[in-house]
Amino acid sequence: MKKNKIAELLAKILSFLLDLIAPPKCSVCSDLLEESGELCPRCLKYFTDAMNRRCPLCLKTPRACTCKPRNLFETTDIGEKKLISLTFFAKADSTDKGDIVSRKLVYKIKKSYDRTGARFAARELSHQLLKLFAKNKLNIEDWNITYPPRSKVEAKKYGFDQSKQLAKLISEYTGMNFCSCFDRKNAKMQKNLNAAERRINADNTYFLRDDVDVKGKKFVIVDDVITTGSTINACASLLISAGATDVFPVSVSRTKKKRRIPKRNSPAKLWFKKKYGF
Ligand SMILES: [Zn+2]
Ligand SMILES: [Zn+2]
Repeated sequence: MKKNKIAELLAKILSFLLDLIAPPKCSVCSDLLEESGELCPRCLKYFTDAMNRRCPLCLKTPRACTCKPRNLFETTDIGEKKLISLTFFAKADSTDKGDIVSRKLVYKIKKSYDRTGARFAARELSHQLLKLFAKNKLNIEDWNITYPPRSKVEAKKYGFDQSKQLAKLISEYTGMNFCSCFDRKNAKMQKNLNAAERRINADNTYFLRDDVDVKGKKFVIVDDVITTGSTINACASLLISAGATDVFPVSVSRTKKKRRIPKRNSPAKLWFKKKYGF
């Protein structure tokens, strides 16, 4: 008993000293934090604004928007499961504060050794997942959480695999079983490829590990950003073809579908009009 109290006291002194040396800072703007947490009140407000932004097509929030990236799950039949994301990934030139904060948070999760941003995003995603599962009367502890692994080159460069960390944290927060299901063999990066190339590359990149049995199991797959959906689609297809019964994607951020503006007076159309008169 006495030993426990001494240990407790030592832990308190240690955390006090750590706060003195490296006081907690906002994960996005690096302002000093007055209260415990990861984001300062101002960044938190901007992030909440971004979470409540509407999709231009379906007018729903990123948590409820049903306009999935085009090829998400097109090869599998998992029903009308929507995709949960915390925010829409904004263009780099956006001057909107909410866009800037959510973009910075994603970069922190991807690149910074400071993991407070990842913890914040994992907690928010867990909160959304718990709400959704409760609403649909599903027992979250029957589900497994997995992730598409980072390329070995990037994992080495940054010293961590961000999606694996997100999956681990979400498993801690929700009680879902953590599972490393995939291996990655091709080192080609997705970011410099177009949509069709991404799909082919993703299909050749991820492999189900020999030592995991996914038959009859249900999975949530988490990734930091979903762009075309080809990575998560490739992983979902692997799980489904190996007998998994359900796959559900979540991400911190995803690209927003643009409203299609019909092209008027394209060169081809003008040529046609000139030649045929209509
Ligand atoms: Zn801040
Ligand atoms: Zn939508």
